[in-house]
Amino acid sequence: MTTKETVAYDPQNVFARILRGELPCNKVYENEYVLAFHDIAPKAPIHVLVIPKGAYVSFADFSKNASDAEITGFTRGVGQVARILQVDGPGYRLLSNVGKEGGQEVPHFHVHIFAGRALGAMLP
Ligand code: IMP
Repeated sequence: MTTKETVAYDPQNVFARILRGELPCNKVYENEYVLAFHDIAPKAPIHVLVIPKGAYVSFADFSKNASDAEITGFTRGVGQVARILQVDGPGYRLLSNVGKEGGQEVPHFHVHIFAGRALGAMLP
């Protein structure tokens, strides 16, 4: 049985507005599947957000409901952004907050890329 994500997508969320060009962003990269831009309140020397162009609330929604092409396009897009940022060599951290208890603030699926300093061991 397959069911659609029960949390409704809010088309007025800030990332949806950025995708529509209603709000500005400091763009790093864009293609058919993804948009990447600098976080407005960076928590590391490099802090970039990668978002899919489709309307997905969270990783839970995306992983369940996105097409294989969207999932592949997003994954390759994140890798491309890391290469553009030249963080492949020194390394970086990917993070995606999911839902209320996961600390997600913006209800459009996004992956954070943190880099630019030694990030240390993973903490919850
Ligand atoms: P979340 O907690 O994983 O949902 O993270 C949302 C991120 O979006 C936070 O790190 C915010 O600083 C960032 N953010 C919120 N509004 C904007 C914006 O308009 N431009 C860029 N980043 C934003």
